[in-house]
Amino acid sequence: MTMAPSGSPPPSPSRMADFDLTPEQRQVRAAVREFAEREVLPFVEEHERAARYPSELIRKLVPLGYLAPVLPERFGGGGADVVTYGLICEELARVDWVVASVVSVTNSLVAGSLVRFGTAAQQERWLPGICDGSILTSACLTEPDGGSDLAAVRTRASRTAGGWSISGAKVFISHAAHAGLLLVAATVDPGKRHRGVTVFLVDPAADGVAISDLPMRTLRRDNLAEIHFDGTVVPDDAVLGEVGGGFPILGAALDMGRFSVAARCVGQAQRAIDLTAPYATEREAFGQPIGQFQMIQQKIADMCVRTEAARALVYRLGRMKDAGVERCSLEASMAKLAASEAATANALDAIQIHGGYGFSSDYEVGRLLLEAKTLEVGEGTSELHRKLIAEHALGVRR
Ligand SMILES: Cc1cc2nc3c(=O)[nH]c(=O)nc-3n(C[C@H](O)[C@H](O)[C@H](O)COP(=O)(O)OP(=O)(O)OC[C@H]3O[C@@H](n4cnc5c(N)ncnc54)[C@H](O)[C@@H]3O)c2cc1C
Repeated sequence: MTMAPSGSPPPSPSRMADFDLTPEQRQVRAAVREFAEREVLPFVEEHERAARYPSELIRKLVPLGYLAPVLPERFGGGGADVVTYGLICEELARVDWVVASVVSVTNSLVAGSLVRFGTAAQQERWLPGICDGSILTSACLTEPDGGSDLAAVRTRASRTAGGWSISGAKVFISHAAHAGLLLVAATVDPGKRHRGVTVFLVDPAADGVAISDLPMRTLRRDNLAEIHFDGTVVPDDAVLGEVGGGFPILGAALDMGRFSVAARCVGQAQRAIDLTAPYATEREAFGQPIGQFQMIQQKIADMCVRTEAARALVYRLGRMKDAGVERCSLEASMAKLAASEAATANALDAIQIHGGYGFSSDYEVGRLLLEAKTLEVGEGTSELHRKLIAEHALGVRR
């Protein structure tokens, strides 16, 4: 994995953010930040205006080891620790939601599930291509009738000779139009609720898969898609894990997914600060920089504190995972809730401090708001995380 040359001072969002990272982790952060600002940031607005998926930027992640940092080295991944993975997500998301999302979906949701639950044959078939960037992936969970209640998936998998026939629809699927592998949640028996959920590895080129563009008000460069499966036949070895055993697979995937989404949110929250503090120093009103007004200072202080608080939760969660705690649902919910709400709140404050320019297409802060808000919805809404956290506190859930 590419690191900054030793001796160069790593740019850091704050002293607190870096003080207990290893020297290697600091170097990775510095290198990813430098790469993201040089190679990704200059193209984001242009891609958004043109609704253009950043394929060429994603390809640039591969030789640097940023596309598959936490996947096993034997398949071409980086074999990095979880905190380092979080730093990569944080720094990429600081400049671009979509490039960071590819890394997050790949490592946490799809390839991560293959590593945890795949057979040797499934791993050999898919992981080398995922690690070398030739196969992008999508996680297909959400359906038109609902995304929060995963036990209620309606996409149906029915037995055929030697395999399964899948029919149903998925919506809001990131990266699908560019994916070479779909991880699909379906049910083999809706009456069994979570015990019927089964995860399938589906080639999007298979017969009966129709992927269409889903028009969005934000993240047009993500090319979000709707997918219809119409009697798509897959072989038995397309089942990941056990038939009816999909729920724990999705649980483990989302557990890691919430870590990487939370790390991305910290990056987005940090970006709002990085754009706003210089603006408040330069912009003048009533004959003085607006940053000298206490009400502006209050907003900036709140932005900094909520970002550091979220970052502390995210890094702590990463360290728990590095220490071998396999499932950290409570801590993942806390980190994801705090970080996603910090990103949205910071974007709102950033717009307010920018005044009318907060809405100008010449300024980045306006774009940040809806992009941040999406992460209060994706990978578990804030309501679901509050529910889970409260149920732990009340002893309803363990
Ligand atoms: C930009 C973006 C990218 C996405 N990418 C993907 C992707 O790649 N793959 C994928 O599968 N999905 C993806 N999604 C979908 C996302 O995961 C879902 O939108 C999310 O899970 C919520 O599902 P829903 O939209 O159906 O809302 P619903 O489940 O219909 O919920 C609607 C509202 O009801 C609330 N609610 C539901 N249940 C409860 C409850 N028990 N208590 C309190 N409130 C409740 C929710 O919090 C929410 O506010 C993406 C979404 C966005 C915006």
